[in-house]
Amino acid sequence: MKKSLTVCPYCASGCKINLLVEDNKIIAAEGANGVTNQGELCLKGYYGWDFLNDTQILTPRLKTPMIRRQKGGKFEAVSWDEAIDYVSHRLSDIKQQHGPDAIMLTGSSRGTGNETNYVMQKFARAVIGTNNIDCCARVCHGPSVAALQVTLGNGAMSNSIVELEDTKCLLIFGYNAADSHPIVARRIIKAKEKGAKIIVCDPRYIETARIADIWLPLKNGSNMALVNAFLNVLINENLYNQEYVDRNTEGFEELKAVIDKYTPEYVEDITGLKAKQIREAAYMYGKSSAATILWGMGVTQWGQSTDVIKGLSSMALITGNLGRPNVGVGPVRGQNNVQGACDMGATPKDYPGYQKVADTHVRKKFAKAWKVKTLPENPGYTITEVPHKILEGHVKAYYIMGEDPLQTDPELSTMREAINKLDFLIVQDIFMTKTAAEADVILPATSWGEHEGVYTSADRGFQYFEKAIEPTGNVKVDWQIISLIATKLGYPMHYDNTKQIWDELRMLCDQYQGATYEKMADLGYVQWPCPNEDHPGSQYLYHDNKFDRPNGKGLLVSADWIPPKEQLSEEFPMVLCTVREVGHYSCRSMTGNCRPLQTLADEPGHVQINPADASRLGIEQGDLVYVQSRRGKVITRADITPRANKGAVYMTYQWWIGACNELTLDHLDPVSRTPEYKHSAVNVLKI
Ligand code: SF4
Repeated sequence: MKKSLTVCPYCASGCKINLLVEDNKIIAAEGANGVTNQGELCLKGYYGWDFLNDTQILTPRLKTPMIRRQKGGKFEAVSWDEAIDYVSHRLSDIKQQHGPDAIMLTGSSRGTGNETNYVMQKFARAVIGTNNIDCCARVCHGPSVAALQVTLGNGAMSNSIVELEDTKCLLIFGYNAADSHPIVARRIIKAKEKGAKIIVCDPRYIETARIADIWLPLKNGSNMALVNAFLNVLINENLYNQEYVDRNTEGFEELKAVIDKYTPEYVEDITGLKAKQIREAAYMYGKSSAATILWGMGVTQWGQSTDVIKGLSSMALITGNLGRPNVGVGPVRGQNNVQGACDMGATPKDYPGYQKVADTHVRKKFAKAWKVKTLPENPGYTITEVPHKILEGHVKAYYIMGEDPLQTDPELSTMREAINKLDFLIVQDIFMTKTAAEADVILPATSWGEHEGVYTSADRGFQYFEKAIEPTGNVKVDWQIISLIATKLGYPMHYDNTKQIWDELRMLCDQYQGATYEKMADLGYVQWPCPNEDHPGSQYLYHDNKFDRPNGKGLLVSADWIPPKEQLSEEFPMVLCTVREVGHYSCRSMTGNCRPLQTLADEPGHVQINPADASRLGIEQGDLVYVQSRRGKVITRADITPRANKGAVYMTYQWWIGACNELTLDHLDPVSRTPEYKHSAVNVLKI
């Protein structure tokens, strides 16, 4: 039996796992002593490897390249040579006819690794000639990146997962750690055991609310009003650090002007909270000697999410909770390598290391390194804009790697219409997902467990993960597939291994330069910034309170509250909010093919509903119900729970039956272009 040391492919907690291998089959997993998990794992870590043994419970593994030559026709298995030839000819024709911006590409925030994301964005920019590259950060923590880059200079957690248990106060806003990052939830419990105060802001009575000192069940859609009320109390009741503000920030008077009217009394109606509760929470946060704010999708998946995060960042700044251990701001990234996909430049405005495509010097640097005359300067499309860009005729080809937008993106009817209108759809994946089933070409890739590389955890930690087994089937590693297409298109791209790719990347990004494979092997975990080979990496950002902005000061900013886009009505009187479940991940193609996880939750989806609402609607536990919005109707089962607040229902997005994205709308935050998944008007009907 052999042991392979890897990193969990599910959430971005960055847990290290030993996979036990016999006869090229995984037989078990055990927690390894990683920096963030210290030997512990959640159930996805323990049981989420089973899909590697090709269980075929939900979907078959993709094992050979396939082409569908006519819309509506059948897939035909082909050789790799033929598939690469076909893809490169079709992409070349589309580029010639419609220009490079008619082609859209995705990186992948899932198990593929940083090296592949680097290669994919290089392919988009240097080979195709477009910045139309994006990843699923767009539908999760895009607003965190956008907001924190403006206020502090870096779009990432300021501090580390390991520090959470030594903070003195945790303000947890719209973040259900127990379901989305169980190992981070463990740290929260340890913090509580060590005496930290816990404040939870969430409409639902989530697991963490059970251990909270203060639970603020705010109305769905009132985040900005509550953050402004916190700022109002902190400033007007003198709980802020005047000296820190004077020395290290700018924008205080402008911030004060915005939040002035948002007294706790003023926001009572908007938030549904008592002024006294809000004041108590603000005092608890403001008086703490070391406070940390964590947030998740409950903050980011709104039409005003970037503003809310700027407000949260302002709370940390005015109280001096940055630039030292055990404090800070924590956007806890969802998928295992979503931080890495952004770090590697799989986004439309940034090269690797968040260097701007609009910056002439940066463009020249990358053009020289990649040996091309010019690189495109206009920012590309985001994945959330793409359906409309396809329907308007701007995008003709879509190269999707490791994403399943026909399951995970909002307003699926629009997405389906767009996908059907494409001239050419390439899907590079490991399973026959909903999107893969619509492809013109399928490029079957190796999975986590079958290749090696580097992931970045939510707290900027680079970790090397090993290959455990040889892949079965006629599959290739993602970066090799992309390199073959690039070469066929006339841009020779030859890498022998991931280390070559990583070393090329390091030389182009100051803040990753010292994060060598050797150092990762030595230390196990290297957090960026790591500017040179003598540097151990950075557990927290903004040492000496120097922010990565032109004048080194943090920016204080907030905004007026804007109500959610879709108002409730007589016909659609309830809020639908999408949420997570602990046993499954993303579009479920991986966890749905793991026997133990499938056994835990083998019933297609459910809708969580409050007992009072259920009783009013004549619904009993387990009843089949329709959930209907202005965009569609799905069938699912009722899960009656007092954890759901009155007037709102909650669904997870993994399930093919009861696919809640049939109901969601694609209203976007104007800055990050992240959808308002958390607020669609629906009704619920007993069948
Ligand atoms: Fe994997 Fe996240 Fe669970 Fe850790 S907490 S084992 S990274 S899913």
